[in-house]
Amino acid sequence: YSKENGRNQFAFFFEDLKLDTHRSIVLDHELRQAIKSKAFELHYQPKVNAKKKIITGFEALVRWKNDQLGFVSPADFIPYAEETGLIIPLSELIIDQACKDWLALEARGYGHLTIAINISSLHFHQDNFIESTLKLLENNNCSPRSFELELTERTIMNNEKTTTRKLVLLKQLGFKLSIDDFGTGYSSLSYLVQFPLNYLKIDQSFIRQVTSLSEKQAVVDAIIQMAHRLHMEVIAEGVEQLEQVELLQGMGCDMIQGYYYSKPLPICEALAFLEFWKLEIEGK
Ligand code: C2E
Ligand code: MG
Ligand code: MG
Ligand code: MG
Repeated sequence: YSKENGRNQFAFFFEDLKLDTHRSIVLDHELRQAIKSKAFELHYQPKVNAKKKIITGFEALVRWKNDQLGFVSPADFIPYAEETGLIIPLSELIIDQACKDWLALEARGYGHLTIAINISSLHFHQDNFIESTLKLLENNNCSPRSFELELTERTIMNNEKTTTRKLVLLKQLGFKLSIDDFGTGYSSLSYLVQFPLNYLKIDQSFIRQVTSLSEKQAVVDAIIQMAHRLHMEVIAEGVEQLEQVELLQGMGCDMIQGYYYSKPLPICEALAFLEFWKLEIEGK
């Protein structure tokens, strides 16, 4: 391995060997080391209120830059961390870092903004998930009110009884709850009635062709209507074009997230983006 072309080597290694055991050994070793040395960063993607064009908060997305492997996408290492249980210490690092970054926002006068954290299924279903999460917040002097928890359909369809209890308690504590990647998981909609969710995030796969395929448009439109009838707000994910922004806004979508406004940014750049937004967008 070399630093310069770590990324290519990583792809080469994975694609050419296609041996799960080798892949696991390298990934496992590197991931354990990374957790020990806290070698992760969170990048923040703004959520923009569709009507008022104000930033209401950020989603935290974990980044891992490894000397040997180059940039490893969370889409690759999160599932692996889930399989091995490493997701628990990793999630705790992520929540702790999100608290510290929220404090940085607050220090710059953005204490009204929320940070959304992706919660993996395995972590959510730990008996002490709520306790340990609260502890991390308390240690940082943060309130649950400053955070949203993003859960997928798959996560909350598991073990419905304890899930309901946990979601109700989390909401009582002040967390906002989002259902992530909506439309890609289970077809059952019963949980939408059953669980106290604040936000429904429409998956990117619906947004991608929303302006070109009338079928996708019909589904997105129906999701928005349904969510509103259930007193949930809708966030569109993966919005890249102005045409999409305008169409979604016209359909009553509450919040927009995607490259059209910004890629996920390191916290210092996210702070700069907020300043830019205040001057350039809200000022006009
Ligand atoms: P997600 O939570 O659905 O996050 C949205 C993904 O879409 C992110 O990919 C984001 O960078 C990407 N994205 C945002 N806007 C656009 C856009 O306009 N176009 C396109 N093509 N993509 C866009 P990312 O950061 O690679 O994360 C992938 C997934 O990994 C996340 O999906 C989430 O399931 C998981 N993940 C990321 N960070 C964390 C974390 O801290 N904890 C856990 N448990 N999972 C995480
Ligand atoms: Mg998410
Ligand atoms: Mg998503
Ligand atoms: Mg996703």
